[in-house]
Amino acid sequence: RDYKVTGVQTCALPILMRPEVLQAMDDAAQVFVNMTDLNRAAGEVVARACGADKGLVTSGCAAAQVLMVAACMTGQNEDNVEQLPDTTGMKNEVILFKGQRNRYDKSFVTPGATLVEFGSETDATVEELEAAINENTACIAFVVAPFLPTGIGLEETIRLAREHDVPVIVDAAAEVPPRANLSKFIKMGADMVGFSGGKGIGGPQATGLLAGSSDLMEAAFMNSLNL
Ligand SMILES: *Cc1c(COP(=O)(O)O)cnc(C)c1O
Repeated sequence: RDYKVTGVQTCALPILMRPEVLQAMDDAAQVFVNMTDLNRAAGEVVARACGADKGLVTSGCAAAQVLMVAACMTGQNEDNVEQLPDTTGMKNEVILFKGQRNRYDKSFVTPGATLVEFGSETDATVEELEAAINENTACIAFVVAPFLPTGIGLEETIRLAREHDVPVIVDAAAEVPPRANLSKFIKMGADMVGFSGGKGIGGPQATGLLAGSSDLMEAAFMNSLNL
């Protein structure tokens, strides 16, 4: 085939889909399935791979970001799920280190949330994060990427979040490979984590993985219309 490929030379991981992935997609396209059953079953595989209670295949890490925030805002309350993106009556603030602002953080506010920054473009302190937490805090977001600073770090972020009983969600879109990173952030204590399926994992472009703790993942299922 004579594709003109541009941009690949600037990509660190130019990974094409493997033949067995294409074969699995082809096989799956030959049959009708109940999509909720399929998503639940695929989610179990994702959960195992990530060492999490529950998992879900999403349409990109971007969608995983939307669902993480939505889950933190609505919990498992049907009325709340129905009401989004109107967040009246819900905790609706997502706290993010200013240095980790990036073009994908729009996905955090897509479900109706508001972004609350702390720290500067290069640094942050525990005190600054602590000052940003209040009764409207839905979650603290942490973005892991080679091109972004870590601020106070994920470990310290999780420690502080626990103290304040606030969930931590992680955007780890391009952190796999290595495969060990699938479970790394859950092991560290993150409540939910999202990965891109179309980057180094080598899946279809518009896919992603979401994994996390049982209650929040159930809320994510509800917000994804997997009823
Ligand atoms: C690529 C990327 C995303 C979006 O991932 P998709 O799977 O394309 O939706 C989100 N956050 C970060 C940091 C990324 O690098």
